[in-house]
Amino acid sequence: MRIKILGCYGGQLVGFRLTSFLVNDSILLDAGSPTETLSLEEQHGIRHICLSHTHLDHIKDIAFLADNRSLKRLGGNKANRTINVHSLAPNHETLCSDFLNDHIWPDFTAIPSREDAIIKLHNIEPEVPFEIDGVRITPIAVNHPVPCTGFLIDFEGKQLIYSADTGSTDRIWEIANAQPNLKAVILDCSFPNAYQKLADISGHQTPQGIKLELQKFDAVGRVPIYLYHMKPETLNVIAAEVEELNIPHLRMLTQVDEFLF
Ligand SMILES: [Zn+2]
Ligand SMILES: [Zn+2]
Repeated sequence: MRIKILGCYGGQLVGFRLTSFLVNDSILLDAGSPTETLSLEEQHGIRHICLSHTHLDHIKDIAFLADNRSLKRLGGNKANRTINVHSLAPNHETLCSDFLNDHIWPDFTAIPSREDAIIKLHNIEPEVPFEIDGVRITPIAVNHPVPCTGFLIDFEGKQLIYSADTGSTDRIWEIANAQPNLKAVILDCSFPNAYQKLADISGHQTPQGIKLELQKFDAVGRVPIYLYHMKPETLNVIAAEVEELNIPHLRMLTQVDEFLF
Protein backbone atom coordinates (compact mmCIF):
# COMPACT_ATOMS: atom_id res chain seq x y z
CA MET A 1 0.00 0.00 0.00
CA ARG A 2 1.34 3.38 -0.98
CA ILE A 3 0.21 6.46 0.94
CA LYS A 4 1.21 9.89 -0.29
CA ILE A 5 0.53 12.84 2.00
CA LEU A 6 -0.75 15.71 -0.16
CA GLY A 7 -1.70 17.95 2.73
CA CYS A 8 -1.93 17.34 6.46
CA TYR A 9 -2.90 20.59 8.15
CA GLY A 10 -6.09 21.85 9.73
CA GLY A 11 -5.63 25.30 8.27
CA GLN A 12 -4.40 26.80 5.02
CA LEU A 13 -1.43 29.13 4.91
CA VAL A 14 1.35 29.59 2.37
CA GLY A 15 3.23 26.28 2.44
CA PHE A 16 0.58 24.49 4.54
CA ARG A 17 -2.06 22.46 2.72
CA LEU A 18 -5.35 20.98 3.85
CA THR A 19 -5.95 17.30 4.59
CA SER A 20 -5.70 14.86 1.72
CA PHE A 21 -3.98 11.47 1.46
CA LEU A 22 -3.56 9.52 -1.77
CA VAL A 23 -3.76 5.71 -1.52
CA ASN A 24 -2.29 3.64 -4.38
CA ASP A 25 -2.64 6.60 -6.78
CA SER A 26 -6.40 6.14 -7.26
CA ILE A 27 -8.09 6.62 -3.87
CA LEU A 28 -8.19 9.88 -1.95
CA LEU A 29 -8.83 10.05 1.77
CA ASP A 30 -10.47 13.49 1.95
CA ALA A 31 -10.04 16.18 -0.66
CA GLY A 32 -8.38 19.21 0.92
CA SER A 33 -5.53 19.69 -1.53
CA PRO A 34 -5.17 17.29 -4.52
CA THR A 35 -5.45 19.97 -7.21
CA GLU A 36 -2.63 21.95 -5.55
CA THR A 37 -0.29 18.98 -5.50
CA LEU A 38 -1.04 16.60 -8.37
CA SER A 39 -0.51 17.04 -12.09
CA LEU A 40 -3.59 16.91 -14.29
CA GLU A 41 -2.74 13.35 -15.34
CA GLU A 42 -2.33 12.31 -11.71
CA GLN A 43 -5.68 13.93 -10.89
CA HIS A 44 -7.29 11.97 -13.71
CA GLY A 45 -6.02 8.79 -12.04
CA ILE A 46 -8.23 9.41 -9.00
CA ARG A 47 -11.30 7.20 -9.14
CA HIS A 48 -12.49 7.34 -5.55
CA ILE A 49 -12.74 9.81 -2.69
CA CYS A 50 -13.43 8.44 0.78
CA LEU A 51 -14.90 11.47 2.46
CA SER A 52 -14.82 11.56 6.26
CA HIS A 53 -17.17 14.54 6.64
CA THR A 54 -18.30 17.74 4.96
CA HIS A 55 -16.22 20.43 6.61
CA LEU A 56 -14.79 22.67 3.92
CA ASP A 57 -11.16 21.76 4.57
CA HIS A 58 -12.02 18.17 3.53
CA ILE A 59 -14.33 18.78 0.56
CA LYS A 60 -12.83 21.88 -1.05
CA ASP A 61 -11.02 20.15 -3.89
CA ILE A 62 -13.96 17.94 -4.86
CA ALA A 63 -15.08 21.11 -6.64
CA PHE A 64 -11.83 21.66 -8.52
CA LEU A 65 -11.13 17.99 -9.24
CA ALA A 66 -14.56 17.74 -10.84
CA ASP A 67 -14.03 20.93 -12.80
CA ASN A 68 -10.68 19.71 -14.12
CA ARG A 69 -12.19 16.33 -14.95
CA SER A 70 -14.98 17.95 -16.93
CA LEU A 71 -12.54 19.10 -19.60
CA LYS A 72 -10.91 15.72 -20.02
CA ARG A 73 -11.00 14.42 -23.57
CA LEU A 74 -12.06 10.86 -23.13
CA GLY A 75 -11.58 9.36 -26.57
CA GLY A 76 -14.63 7.18 -26.07
CA ASN A 77 -13.33 5.77 -22.79
CA LYS A 78 -15.64 6.87 -20.04
CA ALA A 79 -14.23 4.51 -17.43
CA ASN A 80 -12.11 7.13 -15.79
CA ARG A 81 -14.34 10.14 -16.05
CA THR A 82 -16.26 9.37 -12.89
CA ILE A 83 -15.08 10.34 -9.42
CA ASN A 84 -16.86 8.08 -6.93
CA VAL A 85 -17.42 9.75 -3.57
CA HIS A 86 -17.96 7.39 -0.64
CA SER A 87 -19.44 8.94 2.49
CA LEU A 88 -22.33 8.80 4.95
CA ALA A 89 -25.78 9.56 3.47
CA PRO A 90 -26.23 12.80 5.49
CA ASN A 91 -22.89 14.03 4.13
CA HIS A 92 -24.10 13.50 0.58
CA GLU A 93 -27.26 15.44 1.37
CA THR A 94 -25.11 18.31 2.63
CA LEU A 95 -22.84 18.16 -0.43
CA CYS A 96 -25.87 18.37 -2.73
CA SER A 97 -27.81 21.03 -0.84
CA ASP A 98 -24.98 23.29 0.29
CA PHE A 99 -21.99 22.82 -2.02
CA LEU A 100 -22.64 21.26 -5.44
CA ASN A 101 -25.96 23.09 -5.61
CA ASP A 102 -25.53 25.23 -8.75
CA HIS A 103 -25.02 28.29 -6.53
CA ILE A 104 -21.76 27.66 -4.74
CA TRP A 105 -20.53 25.34 -7.51
CA PRO A 106 -22.09 23.46 -10.45
CA ASP A 107 -23.92 20.24 -9.63
CA PHE A 108 -21.37 17.78 -10.97
CA THR A 109 -23.62 14.89 -9.90
CA ALA A 110 -25.72 15.81 -12.95
CA ILE A 111 -22.99 16.92 -15.39
CA PRO A 112 -22.94 16.02 -18.20
CA SER A 113 -25.97 13.91 -17.22
CA ARG A 114 -27.26 12.05 -14.15
CA GLU A 115 -26.43 8.70 -15.78
CA ASP A 116 -22.91 9.68 -16.83
CA ALA A 117 -22.09 12.14 -14.06
CA ILE A 118 -18.57 13.25 -13.20
CA ILE A 119 -19.34 12.78 -9.50
CA LYS A 120 -21.21 9.75 -8.26
CA LEU A 121 -22.19 9.46 -4.61
CA HIS A 122 -22.09 6.10 -2.84
CA ASN A 123 -23.59 5.85 0.64
CA ILE A 124 -21.48 4.10 3.23
CA GLU A 125 -22.30 3.02 6.78
CA PRO A 126 -20.14 2.67 9.86
CA GLU A 127 -18.52 -0.74 10.10
CA VAL A 128 -19.88 -1.97 6.78
CA PRO A 129 -16.74 -2.62 4.70
CA PHE A 130 -16.62 -1.91 0.98
CA GLU A 131 -13.97 -2.65 -1.63
CA ILE A 132 -12.60 -0.22 -4.22
CA ASP A 133 -9.64 -0.87 -6.53
CA GLY A 134 -8.71 -3.94 -4.48
CA VAL A 135 -8.61 -1.97 -1.22
CA ARG A 136 -10.99 -2.93 1.56
CA ILE A 137 -12.27 0.09 3.46
CA THR A 138 -14.22 0.09 6.72
CA PRO A 139 -15.75 3.38 7.92
CA ILE A 140 -15.64 3.90 11.70
CA ALA A 141 -17.83 6.50 13.42
CA VAL A 142 -15.81 9.09 15.36
CA ASN A 143 -16.55 12.13 17.56
CA HIS A 144 -16.96 15.39 15.61
CA PRO A 145 -19.75 18.03 15.51
CA VAL A 146 -21.00 16.77 12.13
CA PRO A 147 -21.41 13.14 10.96
CA CYS A 148 -17.86 11.86 10.50
CA THR A 149 -16.11 8.55 10.00
CA GLY A 150 -12.51 7.55 10.18
CA PHE A 151 -11.39 4.71 7.93
CA LEU A 152 -9.66 1.36 8.30
CA ILE A 153 -7.75 0.75 5.08
CA ASP A 154 -6.80 -2.86 4.35
CA PHE A 155 -4.68 -3.80 1.33
CA GLU A 156 -2.82 -7.06 0.78
CA GLY A 157 -3.06 -8.03 4.45
CA LYS A 158 -1.71 -4.73 5.79
CA GLN A 159 -3.84 -2.18 7.60
CA LEU A 160 -3.83 1.57 8.17
CA ILE A 161 -6.16 3.55 10.44
CA TYR A 162 -7.09 7.16 9.64
CA SER A 163 -9.03 8.72 12.51
CA ALA A 164 -10.28 11.73 10.51
CA ASP A 165 -11.29 14.77 12.60
CA THR A 166 -12.21 13.61 16.07
CA GLY A 167 -12.12 14.35 19.76
CA SER A 168 -11.85 11.54 22.26
CA THR A 169 -13.35 8.36 20.82
CA ASP A 170 -13.40 4.65 21.66
CA ARG A 171 -14.56 2.41 18.84
CA ILE A 172 -11.68 3.19 16.50
CA TRP A 173 -9.22 1.89 19.13
CA GLU A 174 -11.14 -1.34 19.60
CA ILE A 175 -10.92 -1.85 15.85
CA ALA A 176 -7.26 -0.81 15.72
CA ASN A 177 -6.43 -3.28 18.49
CA ALA A 178 -8.11 -6.09 16.55
CA GLN A 179 -5.98 -5.67 13.40
CA PRO A 180 -3.45 -8.43 12.72
CA ASN A 181 -0.95 -6.34 10.76
CA LEU A 182 -1.55 -2.67 11.53
CA LYS A 183 1.18 -0.54 9.93
CA ALA A 184 0.26 2.98 11.06
CA VAL A 185 -2.34 5.23 12.64
CA ILE A 186 -3.01 8.76 11.42
CA LEU A 187 -4.56 10.76 14.24
CA ASP A 188 -6.10 14.22 14.73
CA CYS A 189 -4.00 16.66 16.78
CA SER A 190 -5.27 20.13 15.91
CA PHE A 191 -4.52 22.45 18.81
CA PRO A 192 -1.91 23.07 21.51
CA ASN A 193 -2.83 22.11 25.08
CA ALA A 194 -3.84 25.69 25.94
CA TYR A 195 -6.78 25.32 23.53
CA GLN A 196 -8.20 22.18 25.16
CA LYS A 197 -11.64 23.76 25.62
CA LEU A 198 -11.79 24.73 21.95
CA ALA A 199 -10.61 21.24 21.00
CA ASP A 200 -13.40 19.69 23.10
CA ILE A 201 -16.09 21.95 21.62
CA SER A 202 -14.91 21.48 18.04
CA GLY A 203 -14.24 17.72 18.23
CA HIS A 204 -10.46 17.75 17.88
CA GLN A 205 -7.42 16.71 19.89
CA THR A 206 -4.44 18.27 21.66
CA PRO A 207 -1.15 16.60 22.65
CA GLN A 208 -2.38 16.07 26.25
CA GLY A 209 -5.58 14.58 24.82
CA ILE A 210 -3.51 12.27 22.62
CA LYS A 211 -1.68 11.00 25.70
CA LEU A 212 -5.00 9.95 27.27
CA GLU A 213 -6.32 8.63 23.97
CA LEU A 214 -3.33 6.35 23.45
CA GLN A 215 -4.06 4.57 26.73
CA LYS A 216 -6.73 2.76 24.67
CA PHE A 217 -4.24 1.60 22.04
CA ASP A 218 -2.39 -1.68 22.66
CA ALA A 219 0.39 -1.12 20.12
CA VAL A 220 1.87 2.18 21.35
CA GLY A 221 5.61 2.06 20.69
CA ARG A 222 5.23 -0.72 18.10
CA VAL A 223 2.96 0.85 15.48
CA PRO A 224 3.84 4.36 14.25
CA ILE A 225 1.34 7.10 15.07
CA TYR A 226 1.31 10.12 12.79
CA LEU A 227 -0.47 13.30 13.83
CA TYR A 228 -2.29 15.47 11.29
CA HIS A 229 -4.65 18.47 11.20
CA MET A 230 -2.31 20.71 13.20
CA LYS A 231 -3.27 24.39 12.97
CA PRO A 232 -0.23 25.79 11.11
CA GLU A 233 0.07 28.99 13.16
CA THR A 234 0.50 26.90 16.34
CA LEU A 235 2.74 24.24 14.83
CA ASN A 236 5.84 25.03 16.90
CA VAL A 237 3.92 24.86 20.17
CA ILE A 238 2.24 21.58 19.20
CA ALA A 239 5.63 20.17 18.14
CA ALA A 240 7.16 20.99 21.53
CA GLU A 241 4.20 19.50 23.41
CA VAL A 242 4.29 16.31 21.31
CA GLU A 243 8.03 16.03 22.01
CA GLU A 244 7.34 16.34 25.75
CA LEU A 245 4.99 13.36 25.63
CA ASN A 246 8.07 11.23 24.90
CA ILE A 247 6.02 8.49 23.24
CA PRO A 248 8.09 6.32 20.86
CA HIS A 249 7.05 6.23 17.19
CA LEU A 250 4.77 9.25 17.61
CA ARG A 251 5.35 12.26 15.37
CA MET A 252 3.59 14.87 13.26
CA LEU A 253 2.98 14.16 9.59
CA THR A 254 4.64 16.35 6.99
CA GLN A 255 3.59 17.13 3.45
CA VAL A 256 6.57 15.32 1.96
CA ASP A 257 5.76 12.05 3.71
CA GLU A 258 5.16 9.03 1.56
CA PHE A 259 4.72 5.54 3.00
CA LEU A 260 5.06 2.15 1.44
CA PHE A 261 3.59 -0.64 3.54
ZN1 LIG B 1 -13.89 18.79 10.67
ZN1 LIG C 1 -10.72 19.24 9.24
